[in-house]
Amino acid sequence: MRVRFPPSPTGALHIGNARTALYNWLLARGSGGQLVLRIEDTDRERSTPENVDLIFESMDWLGIDFDEGPIYQSANAERHAAVVQELLDSGKAYRTAAGPEQVKAYKAANDSRGFRGVEESEGAIRLRMPDEGVTTVNDIIRGETAFENVLLDDLVIARADGTPVYHLAVVVDDNDAQITHVVRGADHYSNTPKHLRIYDALGATPPTYAHLPLLHGPDGKKLSKRHGAASVSDLRKTGYLREAVINYLALLGWGYDETTTFFTIEELQQLFSLERVSKNPAVFDEQKLRWINGRYVRELSVDDLTARLEEFTGREGLRPAVEISQEKISTLSEFWPLAGSFYDGPTDDPKAREKFLEPQESKDALAHVRVALDGLPEPWTVSRVEESLREIAERTGLKPKAIFQPLRVALTGTTVSPGIFETVALLGREETLKRVGRALDS
Ligand code: GLU
Repeated sequence: MRVRFPPSPTGALHIGNARTALYNWLLARGSGGQLVLRIEDTDRERSTPENVDLIFESMDWLGIDFDEGPIYQSANAERHAAVVQELLDSGKAYRTAAGPEQVKAYKAANDSRGFRGVEESEGAIRLRMPDEGVTTVNDIIRGETAFENVLLDDLVIARADGTPVYHLAVVVDDNDAQITHVVRGADHYSNTPKHLRIYDALGATPPTYAHLPLLHGPDGKKLSKRHGAASVSDLRKTGYLREAVINYLALLGWGYDETTTFFTIEELQQLFSLERVSKNPAVFDEQKLRWINGRYVRELSVDDLTARLEEFTGREGLRPAVEISQEKISTLSEFWPLAGSFYDGPTDDPKAREKFLEPQESKDALAHVRVALDGLPEPWTVSRVEESLREIAERTGLKPKAIFQPLRVALTGTTVSPGIFETVALLGREETLKRVGRALDS
């Protein structure tokens, strides 16, 4: 099995394209075949080296490696031109100056029949389509569809200046690379009869096709930036783990059975098959990804999660805070808002201050806390801290929450933090009493 991933570097690596890359990679790894990376950079204006780098970076982060390439399509320009010339020489293609207007007029006058031009000395180069028979697309996912040749327009394979169009380039490159399976997005399905006509004209055997279902947002509309993260770089910046992203992308159109959600990368390589890919649109639901990610976060070892968080935040020495935050975060980006105050001091959340520090009852509760903790011998273990704080509630009749919430705001500045006893134990005596004192004096 020889598959390919041919992104056009006109932007970041989108989620749909990442899924295409992943499926091809799983097929290659599962079958012992090869994955060829081809950068389709023939659109000179929109293809930039920065975008090429973004694609490499995203694939690298996902851990999707390739066996051949990167092949730059632009480097094959001479080969494409030679093929176009051969098709002209053999009479299978011809030049015609007819533009879109003439094509439209022709179809209107001929009962929607496909456009057939008259050979001229200049203009775009078109491949002649047969007038009889059908071109049958046999797709692993979508089944068989026959397209009537008489309805196909003579196909533009090169522009008037001789530069080949995508349809010609993709077929020549896939054929030269001996690609056996073309697995790509359903948006290319309607191009496939055209590609089959080019294979036929070249006397070449076409690959097997599989067109992956479109991606929709939870509202049923085509996936776009409106639905949140749209590219792999966005997902990475949001703090999703590579394993979770791979796991979730795999499920966008594929499933092993009705119930299994979690797959390791090795399992995916073994189990993935095109036969189990659905033709119905798949829904990209970031909430589901977040949920899956949370499970992966909780399963990491503390050391591993610490390393990832230190890379993500650019800060060091996070292990103690990671230990008590792991249960509470679903993405890497949720860590700092939860635990940053251990390192940078309390944040200022005016609403929290107003509600939990300013009332007299809060000040009274904090005053009790200060006395109790001041008398608490070290070491401050979590259980010792808990015992001491709960004892205040019993003694004063205050509700535990009326003590813990003001304390939380005094220590972190906000109403979200890891467990309150863990938080106190981690801050330790000096820092805790300092922060409580500051809240009482303010
Ligand atoms: N460069 C095309 C794209 O990114 C590739 C299409 C194909 O797989 O044939 O959409």
